Amino acid sequence: MPIDATQPYDDTNVFARILRGELPCRRVYEDEHALAFHDINPQAPTHILVIPKGRYVSWDDFSAQASDAAIAGFIRAVGLVAREQGLVAPGYRLLANVGQHGHQEVPHLHVHLFGGRPLGPMLA
Ligand code: IMP
Repeated sequence: MPIDATQPYDDTNVFARILRGELPCRRVYEDEHALAFHDINPQAPTHILVIPKGRYVSWDDFSAQASDAAIAGFIRAVGLVAREQGLVAPGYRLLANVGQHGHQEVPHLHVHLFGGRPLGPMLA
């Protein structure tokens, strides 16, 4: 079920639990700002989720409330993961779903990083 992006942050969501080490993940990168791990249900040969370490429901509260350092650190982490995965030359896709119409299911901001095959035109 898609979430309401205006809801308060829920500390029991699955990505909060992964950040606290209560649930496992296939980690590919971590620094002070971000954690990246493989999606449990990959939609492409490479399908990685990059999440900020702060308590943000979606791109909306993150972009409005996070510090410049947190935003810069997160965006740099996304780019670094893509480079480390060897995705720059063939190309890749970033996606952040927000709320009901965006069909966001996990209420902790995450950027999907897809690659490893031609992804075709973007679906609206
Ligand atoms: P959303 O629709 O943008 O919220 O996507 C949520 C993504 O999280 C989906 O691609 C799920 O497969 C993925 N996901 C859900 N639970 C886990 C997990 O425990 N580990 C890794 N990925 C997960």
